[in-house]
Amino acid sequence: MAESMKGLHRSHRCTEVSSANIGEKVTVMGWVQKRRNLGSLIFVDLRDRSGILQIVFGEENVGVEGFEKAGTLRSEFVIAVEGTVAKRTAAVNENLKTGDIEIIATSLRVLAEAQTPPFAIEENSLTKEDIRLKYRYLDLRRPDIQSKLMMKSKVLGLMRAFMANEGFLEIETPILCKSTPEGARDYLVPSRVHQGNFYALPQSPQIFKQLLMVSGYDRYFQIARCFRDEDLRADRQPEFTQADMELSFVDIEDVLDVNERLLKYVWKEAIGVDIPTPFPRMPYHEAMDRYGSDKPDTRFGMELTDVSDVVKNCEFVVFKGALEAGGTVRGLNVEGQAGMPRKRIDKLVEFAKGYGAKGLAYVAINEDGTYKSSFAKFMTEEEMTALVAAMNGKPGDLLLFAADKKSLVYNVLGAIRLEMGKELGLIDENKWNFLWVTEFPLFEWSEEENRFMSMHHPFTMPMEEDLHLLDTDLGAVRSKAYDCVLNGTELGGGSVRIHQSDIQEKMFELLGFTKESAHNQFGFLLDAFSYGVPPHAGLAYGVDRMIMHLTGTDNIREVIAFPKVKDASCMMSKCPSEVDPKQLEELGIASVAPQEEDVE
Ligand code: ASP
Repeated sequence: MAESMKGLHRSHRCTEVSSANIGEKVTVMGWVQKRRNLGSLIFVDLRDRSGILQIVFGEENVGVEGFEKAGTLRSEFVIAVEGTVAKRTAAVNENLKTGDIEIIATSLRVLAEAQTPPFAIEENSLTKEDIRLKYRYLDLRRPDIQSKLMMKSKVLGLMRAFMANEGFLEIETPILCKSTPEGARDYLVPSRVHQGNFYALPQSPQIFKQLLMVSGYDRYFQIARCFRDEDLRADRQPEFTQADMELSFVDIEDVLDVNERLLKYVWKEAIGVDIPTPFPRMPYHEAMDRYGSDKPDTRFGMELTDVSDVVKNCEFVVFKGALEAGGTVRGLNVEGQAGMPRKRIDKLVEFAKGYGAKGLAYVAINEDGTYKSSFAKFMTEEEMTALVAAMNGKPGDLLLFAADKKSLVYNVLGAIRLEMGKELGLIDENKWNFLWVTEFPLFEWSEEENRFMSMHHPFTMPMEEDLHLLDTDLGAVRSKAYDCVLNGTELGGGSVRIHQSDIQEKMFELLGFTKESAHNQFGFLLDAFSYGVPPHAGLAYGVDRMIMHLTGTDNIREVIAFPKVKDASCMMSKCPSEVDPKQLEELGIASVAPQEEDVE
């Protein structure tokens, strides 16, 4: 039977009690991790979010009734114990923070009984994730998840403290917003009052934070929930948290400076790591050329080499065809891997095909200097020698080549480089390689839409020296956008904004908006800009990503208390779900989705 808390006050969390308290009376509360009966003594491991503390029940201290009650305790019962802190009589448990003490119980209350949980509440659970997610409230009791969420809480606190100290104001922006089709797909919320009209959940507070600059707040910060209805990948969530900021009267340098100091502070305070500043910087084109990625993992080498010039006269149709079509031929030197089994190479070819490549050409340089190659027969000896030399190939090396459109070659070789780096253990896991990638293209060509789209968003400022290209060569315009990259992942990104209405209007035009549609969507922003807008810039971090780095997990669901799974559903609450037809009626909406029984 559940007893009440009446008259009890918790004095300590489990691991707040230490040998410094020996002899003191304490009151602790939590969940029973396990119980062991040893004749006249009953031992209970008591667990709360801080950790585990051993309680000893003996008749002479807790009384006959208390001792009997202790004998009925089972895992996950919620109990309150009053007792005296004592030095452990048995051997010290080195694995526990409280391993040298125990509590001699003088009273016990059972605050709640508990069913046997579907899986054991313990670190590194082997239980399948879908079961853990169904019973997330139990999964969240596990110490490894708790420590990650505690880290998240700590980091959010650190960021808030740092930003406040730098003069940033924390200001909330709306969750019910206007839909803007540029970017990812919006989550829509129907309006009951304005039937047929919809709000959109924010993909980011972008427009609002820019308006706050127009309003003179000059340094804004927010821990903002953002929503994107994208086709999900394992490392994405439909709702996620950004640490979002905007600053007035600044250029790139000011933004990067305050952010380097922010990250330095967070890493030091959260995990005691000193990260050197300033971070290295790399223009986008250099990142693509050297690493085949705009978020290069610079913890290891194996950089891409452009061999287009070297092979431009050869007869190998794959190279020739790609070059004639305006493409490129580039290679990777996987040092010391000439002996890679044919099967593994075939797998790499399949991997490359998964990225859209037609194949991969390879040369293995034997120890005696001869080659094993998929295409040597189409090349003269001089051509092969020149190619191997261009790749810095030595006996024992494996050279891999991709020939295609530049973007595809970057993608394929960038991915193979990472795959090889991981497989061959070339990545030093103790490194924290922060990097600013700068000078992103302003536009990217969308095959799907057959038009140029913003690479970042339509408010990003072109580099002043490229403004003239807006009329001649959109693909070549570089922007004042920057990404913060850590160990090959994008930690955050932002840009200097356009604050000149004429450039902003031109951007909308170039992105295919008519004057009318631009005004329909962003009229208030353009109007606002006409009343005096300071130059401004900003950046947003993916907080969940950041916490993944700080806690060493590659599973984003481990750093979100109640995450969704890949299809954007919640396994515990079972959302999204159908709603009462009455609710739809009120909203003036009818669903055309097939009924469950109609679905094959
Ligand atoms: N709102 C942008 C994003 O979500 C970040 C920024 O430009 O500040 O990527």
